[in-house]
Amino acid sequence: MQKHRASALHYDFRLEADGVLVSWAVPKGPSLKPKEKRLAMAVEDHPLDYARFEGVIPEGEYGGGTVMVWDTGTYELEDDDRFADAMRRGRIPFTLHGKKLKGGWTLVRTDGRRWLLIKRRDRASSDTLDITTAKPRSALTRRLLAGIARDEGGDVAKAATGDPQRA
Ligand code: MN
Repeated sequence: MQKHRASALHYDFRLEADGVLVSWAVPKGPSLKPKEKRLAMAVEDHPLDYARFEGVIPEGEYGGGTVMVWDTGTYELEDDDRFADAMRRGRIPFTLHGKKLKGGWTLVRTDGRRWLLIKRRDRASSDTLDITTAKPRSALTRRLLAGIARDEGGDVAKAATGDPQRA
């Protein structure tokens, strides 16, 4: 899961399957609350090595802005399923073993490219914790978006608008 401050802030959720990163853009990011179903727009597959990309995409290019590896880890499909079959069916149940995101989740297609990312109720779900605010730093480098932009020659002020705002 990458956090991406492009023209708008969003999170890019990527699952490795059949040699690519199958990808969704999640405008509000993930929620641990089973009642908060988060819109996830299917976007183009990415190459596997993009999973560890953290840095700055030049302004003017597609996705221009700052990218953070917000969470990383492995996953398992449930029901001994094939990814392509689950995708076609429009319902992908999986277990995450990330640094931040764990336990059971489901992606459900509602219409065209529109899916919902839903936390299932289990030991890793929470009705109170706002995980994106509570854990805003890179899973690889512990940097905030502003720190990544500063280190990599990006737009620090723009990147900082994607970090939690402290009064
Ligand atoms: Mn993106």
